[in-house]
Amino acid sequence: MSNQREALKGELREFEKYGKKLDRAIDTVLAGGVKESVFLPSGRKVITVVGTLGDELIDPERPYCSCSNFFFRVLGGREETCYHLLSHRIATKTGKVDTVPFSDEEYGPYLAATIGDVFEVLGKSAG
Ligand SMILES: [Zn+2]
Repeated sequence: MSNQREALKGELREFEKYGKKLDRAIDTVLAGGVKESVFLPSGRKVITVVGTLGDELIDPERPYCSCSNFFFRVLGGREETCYHLLSHRIATKTGKVDTVPFSDEEYGPYLAATIGDVFEVLGKSAG
């Protein structure tokens, strides 16, 4: 795993300033943790990143992440981004986003299940 990480790091010089967060993001990307679920035919997308505690829901355009680090540190102005959003940027850049197609009928149940996971993770990080 760490050799792969170093190899990928060579392609990501502009992200070096993120330090440990970059290592964590690269490991997440290498583990296939960045998933884009695309709902068809609408083309609506739900992007999740599997972190150390579980699934986080992200919106890179806003940007937004459901993790508590984003809420407290990024929105609080202490950090520029969280490692989930960083993972998505790296996965997009290196072509390692795991894209999964769904039908539009599955959107509701999918979102409900994902949000359920997110709440579970929030519960863990609060405890
Ligand atoms: Zn996050």
